[in-house]
Amino acid sequence: MSLKVYINGTYFDKQDAKISVYDHGLLYGDGVFEGIRSYGGKAFRLNEHLKRLWESANAICLTIPISMTEMTAAVNATLHENGIEDGYVRLMVTRGAGSLGIDPNRTSDPQVIVIADRITLYPAEYYENGLEIVTVSTVRNHPAALNPRIKSLNYLNNILAKIEGLQAGCVEALMLNHKGEVAECTGDNLFLVKGKEILTPSLDSGILGGITRDVVIELARAAGYTVRELALTRHDVFIADECFLTGTAAEVIPVVKVDNRPIGNGHPGEITKELISSFHELTRN
Ligand code: PMP
Repeated sequence: MSLKVYINGTYFDKQDAKISVYDHGLLYGDGVFEGIRSYGGKAFRLNEHLKRLWESANAICLTIPISMTEMTAAVNATLHENGIEDGYVRLMVTRGAGSLGIDPNRTSDPQVIVIADRITLYPAEYYENGLEIVTVSTVRNHPAALNPRIKSLNYLNNILAKIEGLQAGCVEALMLNHKGEVAECTGDNLFLVKGKEILTPSLDSGILGGITRDVVIELARAAGYTVRELALTRHDVFIADECFLTGTAAEVIPVVKVDNRPIGNGHPGEITKELISSFHELTRN
């Protein structure tokens, strides 16, 4: 059975799900998106994702043509239509088709697209043994140019960093901000453990406010840990006891080496493992 893709309230077979080549989403990356996990047929933290989607749209002066209630129904219906239990939802709102110039006022009909599909996960060994990552020279977008808090359809900043990481043999890469502080990875937020404290770059560091990041902060605080959001440098990474990443697709994943240097004892840390299991408990029960 072919996958059904939602476009503006209508379901199309995957191969027929198309939008205009004049859409500014394609021409200029002018649009916003979300990546959402579903567990047991239910979209995880859907309200939080929709809030972020609306904020991203607001930040680029894009009016989403349906209400949040209608969007919720669209996501749930698309999951149901495709019989997806444990999967992934990609939600997009484009600026719509317009002229070949960049003027957003000369576009019409923003396109609302919902794809619900299976998810390709990182191999289990990454969770058991931890990831090795490298710091790349591609600097995270300057917040005054294109704020990383906007989840826009233009992901070239992250893609260029990802290419650098892949060329160094790593599936994830650490990006610094314009001040040389730690920002985030290409598609994941970063956390450190130092003693009993859990540290993560603050939103001011120029990062996406990850939904998984928020969940992990809640879980860590509920378990009695102090979580601090602050400016961090590579020095903090190198002297940390533990390091891990969070993201919708990756969930919580240990990092054991950064720039070829072992972090802590070079194995996934105990607090990291505790948070991985509390995240599992939250999402699988
Ligand atoms: N940072 C970036 C740049 C991302 O693309 C993502 C994935 N959306 C994240 C962090 C993690 O965010 P979330 O937990 O909401 O998936």
